[in-house]
Amino acid sequence: MINVSIRFYEELNDFIRADCRKKLIERQLNHCTTVKDLIESFGVPHTEVDLILVNGNSADFACRVNDGDIISVYPVFESFDISEVTRLQERPLRNLQFIADCHLGKLAGKMRLLGLDVEFRNAVSDDELVAAVVNDKKVLLSRDRRLLMRKVIDRGYLIRSQNPDEQVTEVIRRFDLSSQLHPFTRCARCNGILERAEKNAVLHLLEPKTRLYFEVFFQCQACQQVYWQGSHFSAIEEFIKRFTVKEL
Ligand SMILES: [Zn+2]
Repeated sequence: MINVSIRFYEELNDFIRADCRKKLIERQLNHCTTVKDLIESFGVPHTEVDLILVNGNSADFACRVNDGDIISVYPVFESFDISEVTRLQERPLRNLQFIADCHLGKLAGKMRLLGLDVEFRNAVSDDELVAAVVNDKKVLLSRDRRLLMRKVIDRGYLIRSQNPDEQVTEVIRRFDLSSQLHPFTRCARCNGILERAEKNAVLHLLEPKTRLYFEVFFQCQACQQVYWQGSHFSAIEEFIKRFTVKEL
């Protein structure tokens, strides 16, 4: 028998049973296991964890637990200075490419409008999704905790909210993306790159009122979808203001 004590910090408590939150939990194991398996047995995906201390020393996921160990588990927390110890999630988190699971189409569209690179396909199996994450080194966004627990997934984030606007805020906060938003550079429909288009070149694709009232156009280089400096723009600008100024 191996007796260990484990405590989860900050938002990692979202994942665990209410009676285990924010306190030292005693657990008896009848066989030796890794820290990763121990953590995930509480329902916490390893992708959410950035720092593990075993008896006060930083440890990685493969570390095997021993009798009497006291284990502290911390989430990814950008403003938390842990430079003296070993972070488990790779740094720096820049120019990230995301892939959203098939329930997160609205989130994908909204992130793209902010210029973030988000792959999304409707009918894709879990295995195909995981393969794309691994092969293309993308960050998996999912509401499926089991998917994030797969061993091969290095980087991912479990979306908490059901509201797409709140989901975008979660992702921006978690990956510290507020300085990397480039609105109107990416197509909400297909993730293609937008470029300025002459009005004459896209005239045939426009509704009569749009032809009449708007002058500045962008077109997706992949699917040809046209965006114009009208309702699209003001809605997105409002959206950006809302979460960059107030919430972040
Ligand atoms: Zn497109």
